[in-house]
Amino acid sequence: MAQDLKLFIAGEWTEGTGDDHYEVSSPVTGEHIYSVPKASQADIDRAVAAARGATEEMRHWTAFERAEVCLRIYDLWQERVDDVARILTMEQGKPFTEESLEDIAESGDYFQIAAEDVKRLAGEFIPTTERTRRMFTVHRPVGVWAAITPWNFPVMIPMEYVGPGLATGNALIVKPPEFTSWALLEMGKVFEEAGVPKGAISIIPGAGDIGESLVTHNGIDAIGFTGSSATGARIVSQMGLKRSILEMSGNGPTVVTGDADIKKAAEAAVYGAYYNAGQVCVATERLIVLDEVHDEFVEAAMKAAEVVRLGDPFDDNTNMGPLNNRATAEKMDRHVADAVERGAEVLLGGKRATGHPTDLYYEFTVIDRVPEESLVSQEESFGPVLPILSARDDADAVAVANRTRLGLQAAVFTNDLTKAFYYADRIRSGTVIVNDSTDTWETFQPFGGAAGTDTGWGRQRIDDFTDLQTIVFSLRDE
Ligand code: ADP
Repeated sequence: MAQDLKLFIAGEWTEGTGDDHYEVSSPVTGEHIYSVPKASQADIDRAVAAARGATEEMRHWTAFERAEVCLRIYDLWQERVDDVARILTMEQGKPFTEESLEDIAESGDYFQIAAEDVKRLAGEFIPTTERTRRMFTVHRPVGVWAAITPWNFPVMIPMEYVGPGLATGNALIVKPPEFTSWALLEMGKVFEEAGVPKGAISIIPGAGDIGESLVTHNGIDAIGFTGSSATGARIVSQMGLKRSILEMSGNGPTVVTGDADIKKAAEAAVYGAYYNAGQVCVATERLIVLDEVHDEFVEAAMKAAEVVRLGDPFDDNTNMGPLNNRATAEKMDRHVADAVERGAEVLLGGKRATGHPTDLYYEFTVIDRVPEESLVSQEESFGPVLPILSARDDADAVAVANRTRLGLQAAVFTNDLTKAFYYADRIRSGTVIVNDSTDTWETFQPFGGAAGTDTGWGRQRIDDFTDLQTIVFSLRDE
């Protein structure tokens, strides 16, 4: 039975005042699963006004009061993990047991960690040139944020903004894509039950036009955006002087050096390519293997690929579900065809799988001898593909690694400490992982792009959600 969802605006569940609805079907079954109203400009204005009121109120709360609300959310969150994870699998396609349960549970952790962090978020007492002057800094909330988030982690990514944002006294309007908003709206009930001030968190699903209305809204102070570099560039050109955190496309790479543990590297690379069917900004999307270990690596990768079990994501045995949407599946088709045209060799998969309820199930794919200029190497494929490129030596590997604008999270496999630093010091990437998958993740790891790339400026610490105010006192001269 398809659900009729409501928007969560100013602490209320509402149909909004718009005329349209989005109709959404599941990538898993193809069935129509829900309908969600499309917000009108008046709905957006109401959410912004309520958010302003909420942040004006919360800026006067103590850090301990805000932490208490976050901990209430954290506690209530745990009770809903199972139900919401089921919805997540239905609308997103990721495997329920292997991924969704942990995904939803971890999304709640942001509130616990933010509650801890905010209690220690101290300002500084700053030395002055005058004996009668005292100067110190205080962390104030930035104000009202629009959090514009993608469909691959439709609950977790919004919480990366909402957890620390709320703990520091901000109000947030979350805009998930219309086609992955059910799990998030379901979790929205927790905010209500936890006693979050009305308007401090609103959830307005929608497509790019709703995002654009928020980005250009005068009542919004800051933008949190996770998505593609192309959309990020558009947002930057439209947002004016608003504060921002932007986390955008990534394209690895993973480098496998001559002295690497090849089996471990192959297993980590395969995992990084099939986890969430490759629909992760830190997926292993580009493998650079040194010539001297190429054949050994390919053999190990083919062996490691035997673990992938594509199928019904509600089946406990499945560890890879369908792709989420048509555009992503078509991009995979395009990238594979382009690689083949340029002379690459498909060793495994390379096409949509048959015999499933939708045509979004894609075979796990390994492509060898990928020319550097092919799309699968240059762009973010966002699908279950492991493209293998080669390099002559370490210097060549670094050069290949850096010929991308998408250096978000890279990995290098080596058993030589000096070599690990050689790569870490030279690869232009927000994060460099040594001896593990690019898909390695820690809740609250400082995360974001590297300067000089198209990956944005990410979220480093809870202070990013605050505005540092300096207070200067002039004392009586006694
Ligand atoms: P993808 O290509 O993976 O869908 P996008 O960057 O297009 O990634 O989408 C990420 C988020 O940005 C989504 O919530 C989407 O609706 C939103 N979005 C798309 N276009 C715009 C825009 N012009 N302004 C603001 N938000 C947008």
